[in-house]
Amino acid sequence: MSVKWAYTTVNTWRECNRKYYFASILANHNRKHLIRRKAYELGTMQNLTMWKGSVVDKFLELIIIPKIAEKQELNFQNLSEQAVEFAQKQFRFSENKLYQNPEIKKGNMESEYCILDIHETGQPFTEQEVEECYDDIRKAVINIPEIILMDGRYLIDILKEANWIKPNVEDRLVYVGNAIVKPQMDLLASYDWKPMIIDWKMSDSMVSDYARQLQISGLTIYKKRLDTPGKPAYLFEDIKLFEVNLLKGSSKQHDFTEEIYNTIIDYITLTSRDIALMTGDDIELEDFELTNNQVSCKNCNFRLLCGYLIKNNNTYDEGSYLKSVPSRQLV
Ligand code: SF4
Repeated sequence: MSVKWAYTTVNTWRECNRKYYFASILANHNRKHLIRRKAYELGTMQNLTMWKGSVVDKFLELIIIPKIAEKQELNFQNLSEQAVEFAQKQFRFSENKLYQNPEIKKGNMESEYCILDIHETGQPFTEQEVEECYDDIRKAVINIPEIILMDGRYLIDILKEANWIKPNVEDRLVYVGNAIVKPQMDLLASYDWKPMIIDWKMSDSMVSDYARQLQISGLTIYKKRLDTPGKPAYLFEDIKLFEVNLLKGSSKQHDFTEEIYNTIIDYITLTSRDIALMTGDDIELEDFELTNNQVSCKNCNFRLLCGYLIKNNNTYDEGSYLKSVPSRQLV
């Protein structure tokens, strides 16, 4: 049986089996089953730090990259203010809990759809923190023309000279054994007819993690080419992987070699077996172990739902769950 494999899914599985169940098995955007819908909303929910990054990603995807592709002249000062307005619309969407309105479909509200933990689960926040998010969004956009990518050349010039550029690529699919691998790439470009993959970042956390995500994207592009009849295989060094930190205005290139390729193939093969064992129609919440790691629980989007279900013998009642939320703010 084939299984959908993603790096984040494996990480979630390793962090907490029950969290994996909520995120990858239970969550469904359909409103027919209230618990499944709630798991979907919680899985999509973001804290302010994640949110400011996703605003800039979306703004690049919908506004900036299409302008670059059309070779338009860009005024980054104006664009930075536009990005803040874009963020403010998302904030109001979340604040008004419009995601709970069944008339509103995510596909029709792509640029505004947003669920913030400060509104959904009552995470405490200050106006100052929100203002700091807007400042960072402004700064990230203003930094774009200053970023140097490779050979001392500006990112913006490289993107303008590229054969083609595509933001938010999610349709490159390959099989590794029984695993279906379809990573999300912030930007895929062809420069000198060779692939270039860019991951936009707004923070500094585990750098090796960023590298691995980009290398999985590199593997997908490499392998897909092998499966394309009539085209010569890429050399490993043809595939360029860049992590671009928009807040710092810096970039970092990650390696892609045969050794890395083989290591990732082994990793996918091994971990997809774990996922396959826990995928199936007869799998229940009770089959999934809770973690003992309090740090994982503290940062878990499903914390309130998880606690509610433990208290209520794994039975969900939306009214009673919602009543429990304000009194159980995440600290
Ligand atoms: S709150 Fe803790 S135990 Fe529950 S799903 Fe999240 S990480 Fe797992």
